[in-house]
Parts: sequence; structure tokens; C-alpha cells
Amino acid sequence: MLSTLHTNDAASSVTRLIDIGIESYKIAAALKGVVAQRLMRRLCPHCRELSVGQVPDRIKRWFPDQGTLYRGVGCTECSMTGYRGRLAVEEVLQANDEVERRIAGNESVERINDAARETGMRSLWESGVQHVRQGETTIEELLRVLEAPADPSAVTRSSPAPRASTSGTPAVPTRASSTSVEEEEPQTGPSTPASRRSGTRHSAPASFTGESFELVEDKQSKRPAAKRVLLVEDEESLRRVMKDLLEREGFVVYEAGDGVIALDEIDRLAPDLVVLDLNLPRLDGYGVLSHLRARPATQKLPVIVLTAKGDEDSEVRVFEYGASDYLTKPFRGRALSARIHSLLDRKAKSAP
Ligand SMILES: [Zn+2]
Repeated sequence: MLSTLHTNDAASSVTRLIDIGIESYKIAAALKGVVAQRLMRRLCPHCRELSVGQVPDRIKRWFPDQGTLYRGVGCTECSMTGYRGRLAVEEVLQANDEVERRIAGNESVERINDAARETGMRSLWESGVQHVRQGETTIEELLRVLEAPADPSAVTRSSPAPRASTSGTPAVPTRASSTSVEEEEPQTGPSTPASRRSGTRHSAPASFTGESFELVEDKQSKRPAAKRVLLVEDEESLRRVMKDLLEREGFVVYEAGDGVIALDEIDRLAPDLVVLDLNLPRLDGYGVLSHLRARPATQKLPVIVLTAKGDEDSEVRVFEYGASDYLTKPFRGRALSARIHSLLDRKAKSAP
């Protein structure tokens, strides 16, 4: 599902979703990513010229080499405005384990931002700075559309300016501009900004209505990620106990209370392993297993089935249905974690 929201930056969309009543753990489980975007006017290529020494002091640290900056002069190609066309600046927040954990833990926007930045998220401001440094737009345009970060440490910590010349991201804005430029308010002339800029200075960027957010393709986190386990169990107390145990061992744990939700969650979360109770509302464990084994994407997903004590038949049947292993209730926590570790090790070894 793709959706748009109006917020100041990508991470704030999480708190916006919480504000409209969605539980944080559901956001953590469902959110794949957020693209924050704003549009800036592009310098007219026919009449732009080099411009030196016009960087305001408060943003000088992002422009150590002022000589490469341009300004628009105005010509017939651009109706004397100096600008022609638009470009998108963006901030791409991708969900990863740490981002999910902080969202689920109701942590602040800043903390979510920090986690995303640690895995490479670049802010709207940094994206804008890069476009200025590449001569595609101007400092004036940058400051019209975005507020300069107030706190230097919040941005410089992840080395904004030097990275702009090396990160090789010009291809990224093209994608975004092609998807959402059409629905944006036109920004072809200097008169438009006045209507979008509020009279008072907020800490928030002035152009509050122009941005759009989209969910993006899920991408595997680049760093070695904690293993993700989905617990499918309708008894909440047992689920809790298992969750606590596995979280203490460093697993990222998701929960499902019935078989239908379980299949949904498996599609959305692509867990590394599933712990599956047999007795479930709506769709029982056999049904879940059949579905999983019938589909290529989940055919080899490790599944540990929880069977009831004294039901030897089910112990045989679960293997026929494709269970990787089983545990008979009641079981000890260590028995569960030992089986999980063993299955995940086996999976890791058999991976190409
Ligand atoms: Zn021109």
C-alpha cells in the first residue's frame, strides 16, 4: 500500500500515524519506508552563470567551495525567471530492525531519525544542498523551500557536505519527480512561494503542503540483522512468555493471534522463522503450513509447530504437512530457543 501524509520529515510520519490511532507495534511491523519530498525550481541551463560569495553565514558550513555555485540570469527560454523546470529533493527512510524497534518502542522522532541516518538516510536539507552544489539550483531556492537545520550537530554528525560530492545520488530525485510532480502545486514563478510561506517563522519548513510521502520497496538491511521470528499462538499469555524469552536472546519477535493474520504477517514481514501453534482461530496450523509449503516464497521457511501433549498423531501429521520441527506443549523456554537456533543454523548453511 502506498499512502501520502503531510509532515515535516520522513520520521515524523510515524508520529502522524500514531496520532491518527494506529498502534506503534503495527506501524513498526507494516512500514517499509517513507520518502519525504519537496520540489525546487531548477536553474535554466541556457542562462545560468557562475556566482561567487553569496552564501549566508549561517549555512556556510555546507558550502566550503563557493566557486561552483550558479545563479539564474533570465532569458527567453525561461521567461526571464532564471529557472526552468523543477527537481525533487528527498529524504528516504528505510525501515530496518533498529528503526522498527524504536518505532515499536514509541521512541521520539529524533531517535527514529538517528537510527535511519546511521544506515545512510540523507536529510531533505542535505539533498537540497547537493543540488545546489551541483549547480542545478540556487541557495535562494534552497532557503525558500527548506529551513536550514538549527542544530549543527544534528546534521554534521553524519558528514553532510563532503558526502554530497561523492554519494552519487542524482538518479534518485528523478524517480520521485516523475511520480509525484504532476500532483504538486506548480512552482514555475516566483509568485507561488509567497502563498506557501507563512508569515511567521516556524521551526518547521515553510512549504508544509507540498510534500508527499510514499512507501517504497522493502530492501534488506545491509548490516547483519537480528533474526526475525513470528510467533503464531492464540493464547496471549503463552505468546508473551515466548516473546520475552526470544527477545532476550536478541531475536526480533512479531506476533499473530490466528492463522489468517499469520499468513498476512509472513507476507509482510518475511520472518526468518515461524513458531506455529496448531490450534488457531480462523485457520489452524495445518492450514497455515499447507499455504506456506504451496508457495515458492515460503516453501523453505523454517516452521516449528507447537503440538498438544498426548496427541501423537499430530506429531506425525505436522511433518507430512511440512513442519521443520515440533515441540509438545508444555515446553521449556530453552527447548524452544535451542530448536530455533538449530533451524536457523541449518538454514544459514544451506543458503547459497
Ligand atoms: Zn534562462
